[in-house]
Amino acid sequence: MTQRIGFIGLGIMGQAMAANILKKGHALTVYNRTPDKAAGLCEAGAAVAATPAELADSSDVVILMLTGQEAVDAVMHGDAGLLAGDCRGKTVINMSTVPSGCSKDWATQLAEHGITLIDAPVSGSRIPAEQGALVILAGGPEDAIRAQEPLLLCMGKKVIYCGESGSGSSMKLAINLLLGIMMEGMAEAVHLAERSGLEVETLLDAVASGPLACTLFQLKENMFKTNTYPPQFPFRHMAKDMQFVVAAAEENDARLPLGTELAGLFSPDADIVLMDQDFAAVKTLLETS
Ligand code: NAP
Repeated sequence: MTQRIGFIGLGIMGQAMAANILKKGHALTVYNRTPDKAAGLCEAGAAVAATPAELADSSDVVILMLTGQEAVDAVMHGDAGLLAGDCRGKTVINMSTVPSGCSKDWATQLAEHGITLIDAPVSGSRIPAEQGALVILAGGPEDAIRAQEPLLLCMGKKVIYCGESGSGSSMKLAINLLLGIMMEGMAEAVHLAERSGLEVETLLDAVASGPLACTLFQLKENMFKTNTYPPQFPFRHMAKDMQFVVAAAEENDARLPLGTELAGLFSPDADIVLMDQDFAAVKTLLETS
């Protein structure tokens, strides 16, 4: 039987991911707190639910792509939330970046309602999301994950099974720690090059031509060239994730000298304008301090 898919959270990532599910021919119902954001998908053929509960009633699998833990809690437990709908026997795939402990707790809570939860955050930002080229980091019951692999591969190029519930979330935080360190490293290299009187373009060419070349730096090249940072992965998300990373390090007794320093740079208290820019805008902090 073809699964009916529900998708909640039509932000930067969710818009593109839901569009790819629709393109692969799945029956899709979407919900977003701000209803306007569903207009494009509605025109493309998706049904629009008025509440998460209504979406649950008409879906076999529900995908969440929301800011973080508060948003997931609101969508699950709020008035007319998912759990108020017909969910028994269904699968919820939470692709939002959240702490591992949340994923474990939700898996237990949802199991009490007869729901299987998969935590499946993603590596890759807006452009890979549009291209259906995300890497999906999945935690939870392996048989349930394997069963949903064809659906996950509508949005991504690879599903990596990370282990039991919460493992996908743990993996995502380790990946984002590395992402933050790499981005800060590149920002510092560009900053030093500029202060040394070098052209940014020449530095970027030197990086791209040697062993340091990578997709991440390629995706951000134009931002550094123009010193403008339109959001792909907003600074505010990296600031959120670095708080999770530091908490995970404390919980698991992991020593992260660079991670701790980085959490101070990618701070939730950063300037509001910076918060809405791409996280590569961390370079602008070097210029002002
Ligand atoms: P976004 O553009 O900020 O979208 C966030 C979504 O969450 C929106 O649909 C928003 O609804 C919804 N939301 C927030 N609070 C809510 C609440 N209390 N109740 C209901 N809905 C709520 O975020 P995004 O960039 O798509 O990222 C989504 C998730 O993916 C985050 O966990 C992020 O860390 C992760 N991620 C992002 C990227 C990236 O490059 N952007 C890459 C990998 C992973 P409204 O439209 O009503 O505000």
